[in-house]
Amino acid sequence: MKINMDMHIHSEYSCDSESNIHDICTAAIEKGLEYICITDHVDFNKNDYGCDYYNAEAYLEDLNQCKDEFKNEITLLSGLEFSEPHIYKKEFKALKSMGYDMTIGSIHWLGEHFIGQRKLLELNREDIQRQYFEELIEMINSSDINVVGHLDRPKIIFKEMPLISEYIDEILSSIIKRDIAIEINTRALRKGWNDLMPSKGIIRKYIEMGGNKIVVGSDAHIVEEIGAGYQEIPSINSRLISCLGIFQQDSFVRL
Ligand SMILES: [Zn+2]
Ligand SMILES: [Zn+2]
Repeated sequence: MKINMDMHIHSEYSCDSESNIHDICTAAIEKGLEYICITDHVDFNKNDYGCDYYNAEAYLEDLNQCKDEFKNEITLLSGLEFSEPHIYKKEFKALKSMGYDMTIGSIHWLGEHFIGQRKLLELNREDIQRQYFEELIEMINSSDINVVGHLDRPKIIFKEMPLISEYIDEILSSIIKRDIAIEINTRALRKGWNDLMPSKGIIRKYIEMGGNKIVVGSDAHIVEEIGAGYQEIPSINSRLISCLGIFQQDSFVRL
């Protein structure tokens, strides 16, 4: 089975992408995708160079125009990748009320530390990982998000995360209990890591524990990356295909 969605794409409404939504639609149609969601960054951490960058009105106007233009060729969905929604609750609630199809909650920042900067390697790795998992659990338990973004992202920097075994049961059971979806994010494949985010073992464990809501996304920041890295996903677990879906108007729709 071909995976026909890309539910994590950045456009020029993110500070770190220049892709326009029209080009994204054209590229996705060429790749044979049927559902795409443009999930731009929303950051309120003052250390983020994209803090206050996002313009919801401009994004939604542009998106709705493209949605109409391409309606016979692709389903274009509105989304957000909101950093630390459990910390910026008021801001998250205000944006969510604008009617997005899907919201991804991601941990990008631990205080002043960005999960991705090489400076993290100079700090105590165990402390940083514990902080990350604790923030992640806090976000899962207290935010009205649809999807947990790149669940084991610190591995992009640390290469190995032995401490995850201590936390993973609690993380996955909280996700399932709160009826939140996970995403399979293919970005790590393009960052020199030969695995998905989260790792295949975590995806299998999620399904074995009863989780059954999964979206797939490339986390593309340029149009060439749309729908990239999907080859190995269907073989992870025989039940995976039945877990796949998209979010439309804040609800999971199984494909
Ligand atoms: Zn992210
Ligand atoms: Zn992203």
